[in-house]
Amino acid sequence: MKWKAVRNLRLCTKDCLCLYVCPVGATDTEDSIIDVDKCTGCGDCAAACPSKAISMIPAEMPLPQEKKDEVLTGMRALLEAKSRERLLASALSEEGPDGKRRLMRALEKSFRLSGEDIAREAGFMLPQQEESLNLLESILDNPPQGFPEDSARAILSSFRKGDR
Ligand code: SF4
Ligand code: SF4
Repeated sequence: MKWKAVRNLRLCTKDCLCLYVCPVGATDTEDSIIDVDKCTGCGDCAAACPSKAISMIPAEMPLPQEKKDEVLTGMRALLEAKSRERLLASALSEEGPDGKRRLMRALEKSFRLSGEDIAREAGFMLPQQEESLNLLESILDNPPQGFPEDSARAILSSFRKGDR
């Protein structure tokens, strides 16, 4: 498996050791983001970093295991139910006594988080997953106002290796 280095800027203490050890200059960039095109995946920078700010990740993310159609159908139905419940809790959090509004806000958050978990398991949360790419394409057919079309096209181009 091939690897690439990524730097967590929040952990980086800027002592520059990774700049000295990298044999190809991939760590020496203007924006502090390691240049993945130069990185050969040797791991020297991660080993040298005293702050554990550099991680080695697979150069190509493996696809998750396929799920049966019945499982995906059930997950989509559950996701729709969670979305409806979230909208309902959101509306109810706008009115009534303080205790009720706080309870509804907590429920809204709970429904959102469980919905995100379901969406991730159903194949919508990773950009390389077919469901995500199909969803992006369908949104680009009729993008809502303010939708980041250029970014969406760049993601599609990157993962599908071709422009729409
Ligand atoms: S070695 Fe680690 S802490 Fe030092 S500059 Fe590089 S990433 Fe930041
Ligand atoms: S893994 Fe090796 S090539 Fe890649 S940035 Fe770190 S030191 Fe440079």
